[in-house]
Amino acid sequence: MAETLNLEISDLKSIQIKDVIDIEMLQRFQDNFAESMNIASITVDINGVPVTKNSSYTNFCEKCIQSTAAGKSRCAASHKRGGEEAARTGRPYVYKCHAGLIDFAAPIMVDGCQIGTVLGGQILTEKPEVSKFIQIAKEIGLDEENLIESLKEIIVTTDKSIKAAAEVLFTITNAMSKIGYKELKLKRFTKDLETEVKNKNLLLDKSKEYNKTKTQFFSIISHELKTPLNIIFSSLQLMESIYIGSSSLSNDGKFLKYSKMMKQNCYRLIRLINNFIDMNKIELGFANLKLKNNNIVKVIEDITLSVVEYSKLKNVNIIFDTETEEIITAFDSGKLERIMLNLLSNALKFTPAKGAIYINIYDKIEYILISVKDTGIGIPENMLNKIFDPFTQVDSSLKRNAEGSGIGLSIVKSLVEMHNGKISVKSQVGIGSEFIIKLPVKPIKSEINEYNQAGNSLNDNVEKIKIEFSDIYFDY
Ligand code: ADP
Repeated sequence: MAETLNLEISDLKSIQIKDVIDIEMLQRFQDNFAESMNIASITVDINGVPVTKNSSYTNFCEKCIQSTAAGKSRCAASHKRGGEEAARTGRPYVYKCHAGLIDFAAPIMVDGCQIGTVLGGQILTEKPEVSKFIQIAKEIGLDEENLIESLKEIIVTTDKSIKAAAEVLFTITNAMSKIGYKELKLKRFTKDLETEVKNKNLLLDKSKEYNKTKTQFFSIISHELKTPLNIIFSSLQLMESIYIGSSSLSNDGKFLKYSKMMKQNCYRLIRLINNFIDMNKIELGFANLKLKNNNIVKVIEDITLSVVEYSKLKNVNIIFDTETEEIITAFDSGKLERIMLNLLSNALKFTPAKGAIYINIYDKIEYILISVKDTGIGIPENMLNKIFDPFTQVDSSLKRNAEGSGIGLSIVKSLVEMHNGKISVKSQVGIGSEFIIKLPVKPIKSEINEYNQAGNSLNDNVEKIKIEFSDIYFDY
């Protein structure tokens, strides 16, 4: 942001007096200044062209000198020169104008660059020498008598009072320019900020729109894939039931081997698609919790027991331990199943034979801690804060040992957070990993005594485990 929003204005030459000082306010100041000092005043731009009306102008200047084009252009040149000199010296500049009167100039400056001049004067310090003015009248093409007559009105004052008036004009003009310029810079800064915010909002809207399209696309693709996959899977099951053990199949062993391989890969695809669908549901806010009071210890124990059979196939020990046998709290058992199966399948996936997986439940009264700890390959420190991001895999190379899409833990994290819980991980490469879930213990009041003591239906639901563990190849 600091790069695009600059408080400095680079094109100073393009700034006009009206950008810095309000012209009405300037006119009021100029009128008051002229009246109180009894001198004439005007403000001109960088070329000597007036931007305010004349204040207390003398007839000599207004009615005579400036009545001709030549006089006007000589006045502009004189004002321009006076302003430039004042800007160059950085002081009020007192000088004799082209028509022989004394003027003084106070420059309007922005960042060292002059954009105009406030002038005062049309006075003299001694009685005018008439002959000089007759000469001026001739040069400009004026009626000599008129000019001499108007000369009589010109105020004759002292050097000291002219210098004092010039100083006042200079000080006030300086202050007005500085304040005005600061305001201008702030105004432009605010405008830049507004533009920046508008652009950022546009980008945000575009990105939201893009995300929505992406999510819808994933959702359509996932559902489209699921239908043919279900057909393949059920056809496979049908084939197994027809041919396994049947005499019409000559090479029973091979059929079984390949049909198992096909089924395993169907499960893997189902897992991937389910994960996509769940991720989309969570992103779109469609994933609702079905909270029910239940004994969370029993549910977790049942889930753990249901995967023991699989861990044996890999020669990995599963040890469950709990501080309390019963903790009644409200949770979505289906979602807790997803959480636990995902953590258990990861633990099993990344733990070599002869290793162990420990599931511990700690009762902290207001909350519980569920720990899933393994003696597996561990996670490098630099990946620990990334593994909960979607599509993160520590080993993403094509020749990696374990399969997966890197979505599982991001879904787990969302599901835990939906329960107002937190998930964290500790790990050491070569030693193992520990995932700790902290869940609040909060039963729903109306249901407090009605929890389902029959346990969950997970034991019956072998399919779910087969799907969740499909990334792991077992030697059946
Ligand atoms: P995946 O479906 O690829 O397993 P996850 O989101 O579940 O995706 O996990 C992301 C990554 O985190 C895994 O690819 C793995 O690199 C790492 N990981 C997760 N759990 C463990 C574990 N218990 N031990 C070692 N690495 C793990």
